[in-house]
Amino acid sequence: MLIPSIKLSTKKYFHHKYITNMKRRTFFSIMLSSVPLFLGIKEVKSAENKPQKISLSDAQWKQKLTNEQYKVLRKEGTEKPFSSPLNDEKRKGIYACAGCDLPLFNSTAKYNSGTGWPSFYETIVNAIETKKDFKLVIPRKEYHCARCGGHQGHVFNDGPKPTGKRYCNNGVALKFVPEKTN
Ligand SMILES: [Zn+2]
Repeated sequence: MLIPSIKLSTKKYFHHKYITNMKRRTFFSIMLSSVPLFLGIKEVKSAENKPQKISLSDAQWKQKLTNEQYKVLRKEGTEKPFSSPLNDEKRKGIYACAGCDLPLFNSTAKYNSGTGWPSFYETIVNAIETKKDFKLVIPRKEYHCARCGGHQGHVFNDGPKPTGKRYCNNGVALKFVPEKTN
């Protein structure tokens, strides 16, 4: 499950990595330090300037991600519709990249598109990049995380106001971080 206690599970995971593979220390230090930046924050308006790129080898991504995350984020796969628990997520919070934790969407931009994938009408500024995808007969606009390049989904022009955009996102490529309520 991606939803509960991301902070704890992430720390546990990285702790394990520190012990088992010191060679990756630099990268995992970066990843760990990026997590608390947005935990509990109500809303992120913009990624600060342009996110600094993260580049890992294919083997490193395979080790870091689950099989499903790897297929979507690194091989531009598509998860089965209605398979993500994030479809029904209605709490306030932030949706971050499952590959590198960069905040991509605010919950305020999420809406029910009925497609079976978590959908948003806008992204956090500077958080994503796009390219044309020719996998189907009609070209689609692919978008990915601006920091790690992980594939997130496709954007269409049939979304609601005010943008008219539909960012159709694979749930497995996201981590939901609920807003702190206290
Ligand atoms: Zn990322």
